[in-house]
Amino acid sequence: MSNYSITPLCLGHITRPKKNFFYGYTGEEVLSYPLIAYYLEGEHRILVDTGGCSPSDPRGIVAQPYTRAPEEELPAALSSIGVTPEDIEYVIFTHLHWDHAYNNNLFPNAVFFCQKREYESVADPDADKTGYDADEVLKYHYELIDGDGEVFPGIYAILTQGHTEGGQTLIVDTERGKLAITGDTITLRESFRQEPPMCNGLYHSEKALQEMLHSAEKISKITKNILPGHEPDVFLPGMGLDYGKK
Ligand SMILES: [Zn+2]
Repeated sequence: MSNYSITPLCLGHITRPKKNFFYGYTGEEVLSYPLIAYYLEGEHRILVDTGGCSPSDPRGIVAQPYTRAPEEELPAALSSIGVTPEDIEYVIFTHLHWDHAYNNNLFPNAVFFCQKREYESVADPDADKTGYDADEVLKYHYELIDGDGEVFPGIYAILTQGHTEGGQTLIVDTERGKLAITGDTITLRESFRQEPPMCNGLYHSEKALQEMLHSAEKISKITKNILPGHEPDVFLPGMGLDYGKK
């Protein structure tokens, strides 16, 4: 088995109603949530997602409120753990929304991966582009993963549709067992700990909601230990994982 270590990197914060991120939550809490990239180190040096552009960049697509401190810029966040952008061999995207798939220009040595359906939905001129910075995404070449399959030894992709047409979750072998990097299929760990597991609260159709709930079930059959798309607790010791609980 090829194990990886995983380090979450904080790349800014967005302020959102909690119900946007937790299907079934009916409270009115509005909270600050991190933008997150995950750095994986093992046989390869890999980044999962790349955050958004500068909150003040007039060329970028940004859903406000969104802030980013200097230490939350991607090169600074990588530097804080002794990694340079040039070190990154591969970038794997959970999906291609603006807050997960910017900054590709920083990685001159990296090969980019995403799901085939995700790329095709961004490239389709007739598809809904809400949440995407299509011009930015389409500047780059991607290796396309078609459905479920091994990406590298120790890293397995599963198609988890619903939040987007081609969202994926990465199942990563670690010394603590399999961890799932879910993107925004699961945005908060608390929602996943419901029975049955709940998903993101934002969906554009009943079909998409059903797909997302199905995706949550699919993940939970593989592992209960997840690293969600905007979970503040991943910055706690041990990434906030409690192996005794779901
Ligand atoms: Zn997101």
